[in-house]
Amino acid sequence: MSQSQTLIICEYCDAVYERTPVHKHQRALCVRCGGVLYRHASLTIQQRLALSVTGAILLIFANAYPVMTIGMQGLTNSATLWDSVLILSSGSITFIALVMALAIIFAPVLQIALLCWVLSFALAGQRAPGFAMCMRCLEGLRPWSMLEVGLLGALVAVIKLAGLLEVIPGIGLIALAALSMLIIYIAGRDIRDLWDPL
Ligand SMILES: [Zn+2]
Repeated sequence: MSQSQTLIICEYCDAVYERTPVHKHQRALCVRCGGVLYRHASLTIQQRLALSVTGAILLIFANAYPVMTIGMQGLTNSATLWDSVLILSSGSITFIALVMALAIIFAPVLQIALLCWVLSFALAGQRAPGFAMCMRCLEGLRPWSMLEVGLLGALVAVIKLAGLLEVIPGIGLIALAALSMLIIYIAGRDIRDLWDPL
């Protein structure tokens, strides 16, 4: 094993450590700042790919079906995630619509697509074309993907409106809830181990 694979740098304070194996449910912490250096990789490549494909299916449901349906005196109106972005963009806060589209639609779509791409090649024991760029994009996208914030907003809207109107949570909301948790689990975790030689 080359030296670059046995050493690990703390991403918070730049201290350098020698990598030692960690067991299940264990993690290595930096002694200087207490930051997490790495954790035990509990999922295999195959399991991660399966979860990423599940994420892609949930993403389709979250975007294709209404997040909620609102009814009043026999009239109903439903909205998908994209509808909410379009409604925001038509007002005076177009910039917020752009940020929202990036945080709850484009960033998660890119994350899932890149994970499927990288992991499907990793499963075959190869590095995907453009591997380095994909990995850098995945790291860069992590802070921009805010599905859980979108979910929280939708839940607050459902609870607030429930007292005034007839509110029916849609399939999109259920898919959004499941996808928020899944994406934190697969894309929010350390993916550095994919750099290790396959
Ligand atoms: Zn540190």
